[in-house]
Amino acid sequence: MNWMLSRTLKSVFVVALGMGLGALLGALAGWPRLGLVAGGLVLSGAVVMRDLVRGNRLMTWLRGPQDGRAPRDAGLWGELAYGIERALRQRERRIEQERDRLRQFLAAIEASPNGVMLLDGTDRIEWCNGAAAQHFGLEPERDRLQRATNLIRSPAFVAHLQGGSYDDPVVFTDPLGRATLSVLVRPYGDGWRLVLSTDVTERERADAMRRNFVANVSHEIRTPLTVLAGFVETLAQLPLSEVERQRVLALMQQQASRMQTLVADLLTLAQLEGSPLPQPDRWLAVDDLMRRALADATALSAGRHALRSSGGEDAEVAGSDPELLSALTNLLNNAVRYTPPGGHVELRFAWRDEGGAVFEVVDDGIGIAREHLPRLTERFYRVDGSRSRDTGGTGLGLAIVKHVVQRHGGEIVISSEPGKGSTFRLALPSLRVRRRAAPAGAGIEAAPAPQAAGWPQTTA
Ligand code: ADP
Repeated sequence: MNWMLSRTLKSVFVVALGMGLGALLGALAGWPRLGLVAGGLVLSGAVVMRDLVRGNRLMTWLRGPQDGRAPRDAGLWGELAYGIERALRQRERRIEQERDRLRQFLAAIEASPNGVMLLDGTDRIEWCNGAAAQHFGLEPERDRLQRATNLIRSPAFVAHLQGGSYDDPVVFTDPLGRATLSVLVRPYGDGWRLVLSTDVTERERADAMRRNFVANVSHEIRTPLTVLAGFVETLAQLPLSEVERQRVLALMQQQASRMQTLVADLLTLAQLEGSPLPQPDRWLAVDDLMRRALADATALSAGRHALRSSGGEDAEVAGSDPELLSALTNLLNNAVRYTPPGGHVELRFAWRDEGGAVFEVVDDGIGIAREHLPRLTERFYRVDGSRSRDTGGTGLGLAIVKHVVQRHGGEIVISSEPGKGSTFRLALPSLRVRRRAAPAGAGIEAAPAPQAAGWPQTTA
């Protein structure tokens, strides 16, 4: 209220001054009263004019974009302009802070791997993040304010959205058929809904794989079990001659050892999946590893094949001895099992020009048709089930090999031609292999890579 008092006093003072001066000048001219009134009116007009000018300046600034400073007049108008400007700037700052917060909030939602979409009461898309746009095949800017049910054509999604009961998520295949989505709807505000989407393709695939795996394992175990149970019944109920009894017992032993191999392979796989990665600084002599793997295959071949190895005398590999040995043994045993008697099997080690090294198991056996190659390392995948089982296979060997080589940072590459033979390559990165001085009189013979026609006839 101070400003009112001072302003009133100033105005009264100015008008009184005008009246006084008017009266003085009027008295000189002989019209003191007229001078008094005229003086009062003139200075009152001046006060009003000054207010009009200052008020107009402030109004002009207010009507504009208010970019620059408000007019800095003295007195009431100046204070008024300053107050308005300060209130405006404060509000602008608050709005900018709110905008910043909103931007950060949206950026956080944008960074989420889950899709977030806001729908109004009539199913129109108010906002969606990049993940939701990708999940539902939307274009965020173009599709804003469009009805979600017109754009997302999946019947399961539309029925769920319109059903109104949002307790459980709905799972369906995305409109382009590329992914499986799990969508959770949460109502909020005045009929609005928050639609959260997650890509569960991998999870569904893993679930399906697990279900498949359990079914496969059960099947693989049930078959020898059924055979065993049959033999037990035969032994219990039929009076068999000693020769027949021995034959049945031998068959029973075969089935039991088949189950044992299967369980051992399953345990190996479980161990590979559950144990930490092989250490990168435990160095093993490559030739020793190759010699032991070859000895195993030699026993399996029992003189029916020509086996040999080459390379590796100057090399060391970093990793797990039992894992690498199991990978090489699996490949060599396969080569023996899928190569007819009289055939050749070779285990090679070679440095690669691009760095790293490769173990190769080459045979000139039955080979594999091209269409099977991509699936060979899947668990229980067999080209010829009966041949695999007859030769004691579990269908898990190459899955184990793939696991081992991947755990050592490498990869398995398979090439094969039916009737000509197969080559299985385990490529290891340079971090995992190094040269070492060859010990005097290193035992493994180093031979040039044999061609299919010119296999040397050495039996390891
Ligand atoms: P299995 O126990 O059946 O041998 P693997 O996983 O070791 O299982 O191999 C998968 C399939 O790949 C085999 O069933 C066989 O058909 C094929 N296979 C593997 N190695 C060879 C090979 N050296 N020559 C021909 N076929 C092979």
